[in-house]
Parts: sequence; structure tokens; C-alpha cells
Amino acid sequence: MQPSVHRPTQIIIDRQAIRANLAHQRQILDPTTQIFAVVKADGYHHGAVPVARLLHEQHIAGFCVATLDEALELRAAGLTEPILVLGVTPVAQTTLASQQDISLTAPSQAWLEAAAQSVTQPLKIHLALDTGMGRIGLTSVASVQQACHFLQQTPQLIAEGIFTHFATADEKNTDYLQHQMTLFDQMTAHLPIKFKYMHCANSATALWHLSYQKQLVRFGIALYGLNPSGTAITDLPYALQPALSLETEISHLKLLPAGQKISYGATYTTATDEFIATLPIGYADGWLRRLSGSSVLVAGQRCPIVGRICMDQMMIKVPQAYPVGTKVTLIGSNQGQTITVDELAEYSHTINYEIICNLSDRIPRKYV
Ligand code: PLP
Repeated sequence: MQPSVHRPTQIIIDRQAIRANLAHQRQILDPTTQIFAVVKADGYHHGAVPVARLLHEQHIAGFCVATLDEALELRAAGLTEPILVLGVTPVAQTTLASQQDISLTAPSQAWLEAAAQSVTQPLKIHLALDTGMGRIGLTSVASVQQACHFLQQTPQLIAEGIFTHFATADEKNTDYLQHQMTLFDQMTAHLPIKFKYMHCANSATALWHLSYQKQLVRFGIALYGLNPSGTAITDLPYALQPALSLETEISHLKLLPAGQKISYGATYTTATDEFIATLPIGYADGWLRRLSGSSVLVAGQRCPIVGRICMDQMMIKVPQAYPVGTKVTLIGSNQGQTITVDELAEYSHTINYEIICNLSDRIPRKYV
């Protein structure tokens, strides 16, 4: 999809915020710990390639993505850092990955064996251990030993990493996290081969459980300045700086008398004379219908979205007549007031990750 650049709706990415989050995280990690920036899902919708380029300037150690295509996009853009695909790549694609020096996750012994048959040149492997996420990976000490011995005998597979993923590192209660950590320790206690990277830290682990930083941290949501716990844990080792703002402009405004209905389903009725402004953004832009009733900022004031959000437009109630072209902030700050992604996530019963990932490619991004 082409971004709609002839419309005043735009995402603004503050590159300095990303640099600052990375710098602060580096300060709290051991100097030898490396950071792989997680730029999957188009860099959590911040733009994988522009984010990766700015991180390259900051000497990032590597990148994590979810799919081989996301890795290939970074290679095509000229990025030469190590790249790890976290998801399961079909074994038929292993040669493509190895040709581009892209590391793949091995989710099982069966995958390893099939990859060994399929690949035609050395492929870097990260063994996934399932310590309680229930998603992918080996589940026992014996299966890890078996995989290691297989790697020892299979020169076309290079044992680069061994890792797990924590399900609850963003929660206050650490019981399940401790359980996963203990299992990871047990599964990796007597490895017959040495992996370059042992890793289990996502943002939450890297912020709140530094003893588990290992050799490598997979740094995602916090890089973009969002708290992995939403608002559950507010005690942060440094102030996260959100990088993404979303702005538009009033495209139309009218004064309606009492008793007028607004939008599909005619669910909103003006109570008195009301100024109703129309904005050029809707659920096809990722501003989902479940955000109907939440607020936007106009001239530093919170203004409610009235009626249902349409596919491409929505209406807000404003306290006075504003000219067409007046700036409206949906995420970010406007004359001293701020709407956070967490606030929107809470309003729509989801997580900050989903709000930003939902934003659509129709909205152009501007980097400042
Ligand atoms: N590691 C794995 C395996 C993941 O799936 C993810 C994200 O979903 C991350 C790291 C990054 O997590 P976060 O964005 O919470 O830092």
C-alpha cells in the first residue's frame, strides 16, 4: 500500500528518543553484554529499515526479526549486522537464509535434522528452549543434549546461540519467571558445545531482571520508549522516551444544534449546540472502532471522539470553532497535554504493543 501523503495524517518518529533509550539501556547492562534490537513487525511500526539504519550508526550488535522476509529487507537495505529470525522458518528456505548470512531459530530436533538435509552452505543456528512459554523450542535436558550432539556432528549447522523466552517478565509476581529461569539454567548447565550467545532477556528482563542479561539482550518495546508492563510496573531504571507520535488536522468543522446524530448507528446525539470536527483518520488507519469515545488533543485540550469511528474519518467534539487545518494529536504531546499509548491501550483493553502495531501503512512516517 502506498502511504497517503496527500493527507495531513502522519506518524512522527523521534530518532533521538530511540537513541536515548538505547544509550540508557547500555548504561545499565554489563559492558560485555550485547544488544540485538528487535525490529520485527516493521520495527513495531516505527519503520524497520530507518530504525535499523539509525541503530547501525549507534553500533548496535545485531537485529532480531520475526520472519525471513523481515531479515531479507534489512539485508537488501545494506545492513550487515548479525540478524536472527525468532520465528520458525520453513526448512526449504534455509539455503536462502545462509546465503544472506541470516541466523535461524531451531524450534525442534526434527527441524534441525530437516535443515541439515536441506541447507547447501553453513547456516547459523540459535536453539530455542521452551521453558514455559509453550510456543516453540526443546523442552527437556535430554533433548538439548541430543540437539547439541547433532550440531557437533553436522558442520553445515553452526551453533551460534541458545535461548529462551519468558512469558511473565513484565509482571510484578516473579514466581513463574523464576520457574522459567531455573529450567533454563538446568537445560543449559552441561552443554557439550559452546554457543557464542546464550540469551533470554526481552525488554522487561533487561529492565527489571539484570541478573539474566546473559551475553545478549533482545531489546524490543523499550527501545521505542514504551513500558513492557504497560502501567503495571512504573518503577523503571531510567525514563523511557516514547518515539512515536500520531498527528492529523481538522478537515471539516460545523456547529450542530441539539438533537443531531453523529456517525454510523447514530449512536451519538448532540446535547446542545456543539462544534463537531471531522478528522481524516479511521479504523483502516489502525484507529480501531474500540477507540470510539476516547480523546484526542486540540490546542492542548482533550476532545472526545463522538459516534463510531468510520473506516477513514471520525468526528470529535471541540469546545470552540477551530479552522480547518488545526493540528490534532492522537498520540503524543500538544501544548503541554499528552496522550500516551498506554492510556489508549487501557481504554481499548489491549497492550501498548498492539496499539502501535495496528497503525496501518496508509499513514506516512516522518523522521525527526
Ligand atoms: N524475544 C522474543 C523471542 C520475542 O518474541 C520478542 C517479542 O515479542 C522479543 C524478544 C522482544 O520483546 P519486547 O518487545 O518485550 O522487548
